[in-house]
Amino acid sequence: MAAVLGFDIGGTKIAGGIVDQTGAVLLQRTIPSRGREGRHALLEQLFSLGDQLLQGYTGSVDAIGVGTAGEVDPALGIVTSATDAIPQWAGTALRDAVQHRWSLPGFVDNDGNAAAIGEMLFGAGRHCQHFVYLCLGTGVGGAVVESGRLLRGKTNYAAAIGHMIIEIKGRHCSCGSRGCLEAYASGTAITQRAEEEAICRDSRELFRLADAGHAQASLLVAETAYYLGIGLANLVNLFDPQKILVGGGVAEVGPQLLNPTTQIMNRNVLPGLKNTVEVVQAQLGSEGGVIGAAALALLGLGIVTTS
Ligand SMILES: [Zn+2]
Repeated sequence: MAAVLGFDIGGTKIAGGIVDQTGAVLLQRTIPSRGREGRHALLEQLFSLGDQLLQGYTGSVDAIGVGTAGEVDPALGIVTSATDAIPQWAGTALRDAVQHRWSLPGFVDNDGNAAAIGEMLFGAGRHCQHFVYLCLGTGVGGAVVESGRLLRGKTNYAAAIGHMIIEIKGRHCSCGSRGCLEAYASGTAITQRAEEEAICRDSRELFRLADAGHAQASLLVAETAYYLGIGLANLVNLFDPQKILVGGGVAEVGPQLLNPTTQIMNRNVLPGLKNTVEVVQAQLGSEGGVIGAAALALLGLGIVTTS
């Protein structure tokens, strides 16, 4: 049975794990990210986390997969852009760095793409050739799978779903624009809005309050579902998918958010597309990032296939 090392690199945490070819996580460890200290500190952290995992594992691994925040050129294995959460991360030759460290083949992609590949091989995207994946976390990431392949665009920026503008002159977004989906539906944005309205200081608490009948909290949850629903309606009209998979911390509330979102989506899509798309929670949960990164490596080695 083949096994690979997978890393999920974000601005707030780094997760690493050893995953076998069935998608089972054999070992996993998550640490706070030192991304704010720049490229060198982050690579050092990655190397030390990988060494610890390999030391704790008695078998051998065949390759390394990395999903990272920012945009990536997967053919070159280079990070092409990144947010301020990871200064100097853009320009990092990430594939060369991991290959050199462990003398194993390396495969690198954006974290949204990696998670979508993981769901396609081992999660809610199995047996599905056309789907959209969204991750509602610190930001809003995503990927579009069309005929079993990732939509990449000319410079690998395609499917930046979090920066789809859903409110003209709306809230400011981390990208510098206004009214992006991320500014309404990310965990960060929901928390910020709950704080501004003096409801609570945490998105989970907001959903709990809404569930308990708190009027203002319910209104904010309904508004979040509205914006997310409009975003999903745009995605359905653009890509005609079979399913939309929603992952990330915010999606863990499940039907409380996804049911009203699906209703808004169906109200706003083309008549021929109404009630044709299943909106489901991504299946791999908090391990999705690591499994997705491992999936890049398993796919890259040809150990698993998408068909
Ligand atoms: Zn934006």
